[in-house]
Amino acid sequence: RGAMTVGESAKLLHKDASEVIKKLITMGVMATINQELDIETVLLLAAEFGVEVEVKIAVEDDRFETVEEVDDEADLKSRPPVVTIMGHVDHGKTTLLDAIRSSNVSSGEAGGITQHIGAYQVENNGKKITFLDTPGHEAFTAMRARGSQITDIAIIVVAADDGVMPQTVEAINHAKAAELPIIVAVNKIDKPGSDPDKVKQELTEYGLVPEEWGGDTIFVNVSAKQKMGLEELLEMILLVAEMNEYKANPDKRARAAVIEAELDKGRGPVARVLVQHGTLRVGDAFVAGNCFGRIRAMVNDKGRRVKEAGPSTPIEITGLTEVPQAGDPFMVFEDERKARSIAEKRSITQRQSEMGSNVRVTLDDLFQHI
Ligand code: GDP
Ligand code: MG
Repeated sequence: RGAMTVGESAKLLHKDASEVIKKLITMGVMATINQELDIETVLLLAAEFGVEVEVKIAVEDDRFETVEEVDDEADLKSRPPVVTIMGHVDHGKTTLLDAIRSSNVSSGEAGGITQHIGAYQVENNGKKITFLDTPGHEAFTAMRARGSQITDIAIIVVAADDGVMPQTVEAINHAKAAELPIIVAVNKIDKPGSDPDKVKQELTEYGLVPEEWGGDTIFVNVSAKQKMGLEELLEMILLVAEMNEYKANPDKRARAAVIEAELDKGRGPVARVLVQHGTLRVGDAFVAGNCFGRIRAMVNDKGRRVKEAGPSTPIEITGLTEVPQAGDPFMVFEDERKARSIAEKRSITQRQSEMGSNVRVTLDDLFQHI
């Protein structure tokens, strides 16, 4: 469904419907008064008429479904949970991520361990979990600022020898603001003098009360360094995932989020993305931020080339025209021409707003709320 009809756009732009229809014809769009137009077209119309428009789209607003089909409940399939590890500096986030990954790497994939992809998947009892490593929290912050949610579950790591610290509180606040289920991993329990119960006590002040004290927060004692408690942590993640039934439609054009991107000397621009819904395939035409391209190759977190990637899969892609930014939404379009024209419109509107033009809303703004 479109953003608004031709008649509604005419009203918005203070023009006669007939003028709008004529203008649309010059833009190559044949439309009747009741026909629905997508947001891009409405924005282009406004620009053509030199009218300043302001479009506000709420995060929960589904108007951007103009570029994709609305899912039928029956088309939704279970997908792996996407987990982010947060917490105070030096409390063991990186060590924990590495420990989970290395204890899950089978000997045949030993080479994969060196592959840095910004995210990885592990399997526990045949069920997958995607861990998001947010380097410098850059992508994470950018995505949060854009109101897009790519994480399902937050693991808050608290070192048992240090207790609740400022960034612990920050992490809790972020997770709560995003309404994410929280699992507390009390880390470094191998350290002499560590006191997991003291951490539990401190966290009750922030509304995180363990089940044995009558609350509903899951706590797991771990030692990332000694690889203790990891199995239980994975089980708890799968338990939370089971309760929440994370789903996505794999049978549509893919949408993903850029986790990191860089210019590789040999391969050109490379982006690591997390597929959110649909299935990404080699050959797909896409827009990522202001860049577009066609997927040349995809490499998974084990360092293997793959031809397709479904929901919750982290994947590295090549075939971009430029380097997108961490947090940029990534969308597949029906063909490269469409992708190119959207990318171009977006860079034009971005340039205009950088130049202080009157066009206050850019397509980029719109995409940010997808
Ligand atoms: P981050 O800043 O949260 O990513 O923390 P790191 O993973 O870099 O860990 C900070 C320091 O704590 C490193 O020296 C780790 O070796 C150490 N560390 C992490 N986990 C444990 C643990 O379970 N036990 C002990 N004793 N040390 C740990
Ligand atoms: Mg770290």
